[in-house]
Amino acid sequence: MSLRLFNTLTRSVEDFVSLEAGRVQMYACGPTVYNYAHIGNLRTYIFEDLLRRTLEYLGYSVEHVMNVTDVGHLTDDADEGEDKVIRSAREQGMTVWEIAEHFTNAFFSDLDNLDVIRPTIVCKATDHIQDMIGLIERIEAKGHTYISGGNVYFDVTSFPHYGELAMLDRQNLQAGARVGVDENKRNPADFVLWFTNSKFERQAMVWDSPWGRGYPGWHIECSAMSMKYLGDKFDIHCGGVDHINVHHTNEIAQAEAATGVHPWVRYWLHGEFLVLDKDKMSKSLGNIMTLSSLTEKGYDSMDFRYFCLGGHYRSQLQFSPEALDAARSARLSLLDRIADFRRRADSVPEHPEGKAAAYLSDFTSRMQDDLHVPQALSVLWKMIKDTQVPPEQALSAIGFMDRMLGLGLIENTAEENLEEELSRLIEERNAARKNRDFERADTIREDLEKRGILLEDGPDGTRWKRKR
Ligand code: AMP
Ligand code: ZN
Repeated sequence: MSLRLFNTLTRSVEDFVSLEAGRVQMYACGPTVYNYAHIGNLRTYIFEDLLRRTLEYLGYSVEHVMNVTDVGHLTDDADEGEDKVIRSAREQGMTVWEIAEHFTNAFFSDLDNLDVIRPTIVCKATDHIQDMIGLIERIEAKGHTYISGGNVYFDVTSFPHYGELAMLDRQNLQAGARVGVDENKRNPADFVLWFTNSKFERQAMVWDSPWGRGYPGWHIECSAMSMKYLGDKFDIHCGGVDHINVHHTNEIAQAEAATGVHPWVRYWLHGEFLVLDKDKMSKSLGNIMTLSSLTEKGYDSMDFRYFCLGGHYRSQLQFSPEALDAARSARLSLLDRIADFRRRADSVPEHPEGKAAAYLSDFTSRMQDDLHVPQALSVLWKMIKDTQVPPEQALSAIGFMDRMLGLGLIENTAEENLEEELSRLIEERNAARKNRDFERADTIREDLEKRGILLEDGPDGTRWKRKR
């Protein structure tokens, strides 16, 4: 069975065929570094990681490019408002460069904690201003731009494919977009390629350009950087569903207007939102939750990864503390079972055979079917519970499955890891008892008991042993 992926361009699941055999070029829109990534953003990067891991598992060599937006993303995607990084710098009393560096580092440390494989190329918008200017010049030379009120605009009516990704009705572009936003625009769907005219007098990041000193629009950065590193035509472009209507629609218009190549990108993949109590989580709404806010409560980053694996990427995923608790217990019990296999296994074969091989093939086919991770996880669980599969066979299959899941199922089940985790929990319980937080102390004891580990308090401190 070949890999099948849902392509937003056609709204259907298609066979994936790369432009070049054995090689995939993919671009994923990266973070705007004005704040910590929230767990909704992180869900999208976990989805992209699952995609990349699956492609690599299937034998492709993957070139994965991700941008870091450190200039040009206004508080509204449709060119309204203020640059997010600049506003954050003012609010925090830091320079824009300090803000960008701080939140970029925080972002990659979150990805590392979630075992998200780092992109092969990470590119910063501020390092690519000349590439953006060059691309705007190409678009201009092809007659797709106009200058109004000091800014360079893309004229959407000049590009016949405008809005195909979003399935916008070309006749109703005028009526569909919000009216009266920017008086300089001929059409409300037109968008800025280069700003020289800013409402904000003390714009901190500006560059010289053929159109005057100013700064780029947000959409141009992704077209310019993806084309620089991946060329005029490549395989996959991904991001969250919120990017379909404006950001990705405009990226396509810019790239295809400049090169005349259609389609620019063959497969567009979009991850659905993580939602909190039915509202979307957004930095601007203020209801954001970060990965560190979860780890401070005692969760492991991988509990959140496991939680995300419980939903298909094209469905919304509702976040709640209860759901995260359930993911945590499932993950810990999975690790305990694997640790038990490791104690019982002789040598683990390089490739599984018999029933374990059949489970692995079932697992892989669920992943190949538009990344049905929840179904793949249930195949893993079925194998774990199948007493006819010898532990060494199961471990061999798990090694392959985890290359796609990225849960650290083999690394995190070494005996040293368990010992480390247990001594950390014992210390945490001792501290809780010292602070007379008996509820927390009891919870730790009960959780461990559920995992088959008993604590014994004695004169030399607390020891643990396995329940028989
Ligand atoms: P931003 O930093 O706002 O540019 O967003 C980074 C990535 O997170 C983009 O791919 C967005 O589409 C995605 N995203 C934003 N909010 C959510 C959410 N609540 N759930 C899932 N993905 C999101
Ligand atoms: Zn982008």
